[in-house]
Amino acid sequence: MKGKTDEHFSVIVVGGGVAGLTAALDLARAGRPVHLIEKTAVLGGQVARLDKLYPTDHCGFCPVWTQARLCLGHPLITVHTHSCVEAVTQGQEQIQAVIRRDLNRIDPGRCILCSRCEKVCPEGAVSPTIAHALPRTFLVDVDACTGCGKCVAACPTHAIDMERKQDKIKILAQNIIWATGFTDSNILALPELGYGSHPNIMTALEFEALLSESGPGRGHVLTPEGKVPCRIAFVQCAGARDQRNLAYCSAVCCMHALKQARWVKQRDPDMDCVIFFTDMRTQGRHYYDYYRKAVQEQSITLIRSRPGLICPLPSGAGLAVRYENTLTGQLDIQQFDLVVLNGALEPCQKKDKGPFFSSLTDDNGFVGNMPDQNQTLACGFCKAPADVEMSVIQASSAAMQAYIGNGINGTK
Ligand SMILES: Cc1cc2nc3c(=O)[nH]c(=O)nc-3n(C[C@H](O)[C@H](O)[C@H](O)COP(=O)(O)OP(=O)(O)OC[C@H]3O[C@@H](n4cnc5c(N)ncnc54)[C@H](O)[C@@H]3O)c2cc1C
Repeated sequence: MKGKTDEHFSVIVVGGGVAGLTAALDLARAGRPVHLIEKTAVLGGQVARLDKLYPTDHCGFCPVWTQARLCLGHPLITVHTHSCVEAVTQGQEQIQAVIRRDLNRIDPGRCILCSRCEKVCPEGAVSPTIAHALPRTFLVDVDACTGCGKCVAACPTHAIDMERKQDKIKILAQNIIWATGFTDSNILALPELGYGSHPNIMTALEFEALLSESGPGRGHVLTPEGKVPCRIAFVQCAGARDQRNLAYCSAVCCMHALKQARWVKQRDPDMDCVIFFTDMRTQGRHYYDYYRKAVQEQSITLIRSRPGLICPLPSGAGLAVRYENTLTGQLDIQQFDLVVLNGALEPCQKKDKGPFFSSLTDDNGFVGNMPDQNQTLACGFCKAPADVEMSVIQASSAAMQAYIGNGINGTK
């Protein structure tokens, strides 16, 4: 087995979500040294924020937490959090990547989570990463920090260094695998969706956080104002399959709208959940069963339509959804307490402009596999909209391509 420092043999995996973690672990288990680059403080990506995962409704965070723990403890994986790839130069045999590290002033390798730094900070600038995130540590908010040094003096393991700021390192590798995932698209430009006009009109990711056991309602379904909603609308393809915004289907939204509606009904069977859909994309045995149970056993209403207007009603009377039922041709308006907009998800790379990223991505910001003998690969949502199962399959496939592409022993 090659050593952790054998740069010529290593693979750079960018993105520490479920796809990146899977690719990193597969490669390390096959004997390849991996540099895992994650731009935030913690690993797990979007899945770490999901309480439940369709189609099993099992905990979303548990599998990625285990993967994150295995990556952090693996002798062949070097994890770089707070880090981004700034440039890549491709040679015939090798890639050189410049990594920018916006280092947390607290070294997670030394932090023993005693919280003394948090207690002594007069500005409240030190706080822990969320309870179940890995690596678990404390973070210094550099904007709020005045540099008084009280936390440095209080730390028993000398984990805090005010000089730990930004630096750049160069990594040589044989392959780079992009797994940078997705984020909500900006739908403010579509005024008919009403996003931004009322706090109870929200995206599916925002609703997922609201529903979560660790959310403000501690698992109870509440509006952002803390009230119990009676009627919830889920509007599909909001900002997606729309030439003005995202022209493609985001692939995961029919299933996660059903998941969220089922979840609401499990908590409170009297709440009314209506899904406005273009067409239900729940193919395959398990996904179709999931859909069937939602409609038949949990009385979730489905209306085929693409609502043309969502807006707050006067004097706090809730929200109006105006639509044409495309099966009957009938125009109608319904009143809701909360509206969840599903659909507009875009690859993170779309926001990272500049010639380096443009050469990697298509017009929608998705990263493709390059015609460079498997030097540059992509997997997960940054390659094309994909749920967890598909992201994991693609990640293992990318890891295998990197492994085989280099020759089984790392020599072409
Ligand atoms: C509301 C909602 C509910 C969902 N529910 C389900 C479900 O129940 N079941 C299911 O199968 N799927 C579900 N999905 C889909 C699921 O979230 C995705 O399939 C999965 O997150 C894709 O994993 P990923 O690793 O490709 O991307 P991500 O989870 O987005 O992870 C990408 C990682 O890369 C990091 N990153 C981004 N840019 C950079 C950069 N430049 N440099 C370094 N790091 C970077 C990010 O910080 C992140 O950690 C849901 C999606 C949504 C929106």
